[in-house]
Amino acid sequence: MSFQPPKGTDDLLAPKSQTWREVLSLWDEWSARYGFPLVMTPILESTELFQRGVGETTEVVTKQMYTFDDRGGRSVTLRPEGTAGVVRAYLNSGHQGVWKGAYSGPFFRYERPQGGRRRQFWQVGVEYLDVESPAADAEVVELGYRYLESAEIPGLELLINSLGDSECRPGYTDVLRGYLGGKKAELSEDSVDLIDVNPLRVLDSKTDQSVLVDPPRMVDHLCDACSGHFLSVKALLESLGVPFTEDHGLVRGLDYYTRTTFEYIGRRLDTAQNAVGGGGRYDGLAETLGGRPTPGVGFALGVDRIALAVDEADRTYLDAYLVSETGPEEALWVASRLRRDGVKVDFDSEGRTVKAQFRAARRVDAAITLVWKGKGEPIDVQTNTGRWDVALEEVSDWLRGQT
Ligand code: AMP
Repeated sequence: MSFQPPKGTDDLLAPKSQTWREVLSLWDEWSARYGFPLVMTPILESTELFQRGVGETTEVVTKQMYTFDDRGGRSVTLRPEGTAGVVRAYLNSGHQGVWKGAYSGPFFRYERPQGGRRRQFWQVGVEYLDVESPAADAEVVELGYRYLESAEIPGLELLINSLGDSECRPGYTDVLRGYLGGKKAELSEDSVDLIDVNPLRVLDSKTDQSVLVDPPRMVDHLCDACSGHFLSVKALLESLGVPFTEDHGLVRGLDYYTRTTFEYIGRRLDTAQNAVGGGGRYDGLAETLGGRPTPGVGFALGVDRIALAVDEADRTYLDAYLVSETGPEEALWVASRLRRDGVKVDFDSEGRTVKAQFRAARRVDAAITLVWKGKGEPIDVQTNTGRWDVALEEVSDWLRGQT
C-alpha cells in the first residue's frame, strides 16, 4: 500500500527545502530589521472569526474554507488567512496602543490546485496595529518590497490603490452599482449576484474583464481625508525610492480593506500565478471582530510562489561534506568539533567505503569535501579549483574565508 499527500498539498525535501529555508530565514531577517517581533496564533480558529473577519460574501469564506465540527460540536476552520487571527490575538492580549507582529506558517484554502496555487500554502506577513499615519503604510509596503527584492523575485512590481473608507466608499459603490446594473446582460452569473452584496469584487472578476470597460474609479470619489492619506503614502514611497504603479482596478478579494491597498507581482514568474503577495489597510476590522476601534495595515506574501521564483541552482544546505578514511567514529568526533565552530557539515555514519562517501558528497552537491586521514594528520580539503592541507583547528576559518 502507498499513501499520497492529500490533493493540493506537498512533501518538501532537499534540495527544494533548502530554498525554503533560505527564503524563510531571509524573512526573519527583514521583518526583524523593521521592528516586527514574531506572533504565533493557532492554525485552527472558530469558524465565526473568519466569517466576520474576512467577510460572509467573499470567495474564501463561501467556497474555500476547511470547516468542520470538532468532537465537542464546535465549528472550527483551518485558517485561510492570517490577519483575522492576529487581530483577535492583539485584542485578547489587552495590549493598548501601537503594536507590531510578523508571522510565518501554513494556511489552507480549498482551491483548484495548480502551480503556485495549493490547498496548503505558506504565508509570511506582518500586521501593524493602532496606527493611522501614512508613514505606517509606507513602512509596511517598503518592508514587503525590500524583502522580495532581496529574494530576487524576477520582474518585481508593486501596484497600489486606495479603496476609501466608510465615509466615501458607500457613495462610490452606489455609482459602481449603477454602472454594473447597466451591464447585467453581459456579466457572468457570479458577478450579477455580487452587484448588490459586494460590487467592488466584480471588478476583480477574472471572466468579466472584457465587459468592464472604463468602470468608475474609487480614486475619483475619495473624500478629502482619504485622498490626502493616499497622496502622502505615495510621496513617502517615492522618498524611500520604492517604485510603484497606481492600479485603479486593484480591489483584492478580502472584505476588510480600507484606504491603501497594494499587491506585489512577479512579472517574469514562470507560472500562471504571478501575484506574490498583497495587503492593505483594514481600519474597520477590529470593530467587526467586536473589539475597540483599531486601525491597522499589513500584508501577506505567498512563500510557495516566492520559492518557485527563486533560482534553485547551486543550493546546498551544507558548507562541506566530510569523508573519513578512518571510520565513522572519528568522523563523528571531527564533525562535532566543526559544527561547534559553526560549520554546516555532514558525513556517513555507516562505515561505507571512501568511494561511496565521495558519491554521497556529490549527491548532496557539497562544494567542498574534507578528507579526514586520521589524528595528527592535516585535513585534505578538496574543491573544484584545487586541494589544500589544512589543520583541523583551522578548517572553520579556512571555510569562512571561502564565502
Ligand atoms: P491573500 O491572502 O489572498 O491576499 O494572498 C496573499 C498571497 O498569498 C498571494 O499573493 C499568494 O502569493 C499567496 N496565496 C494565496 N492563496 C494561495 C494558494 N492557494 N496557494 C499558494 N499561494 C497562495
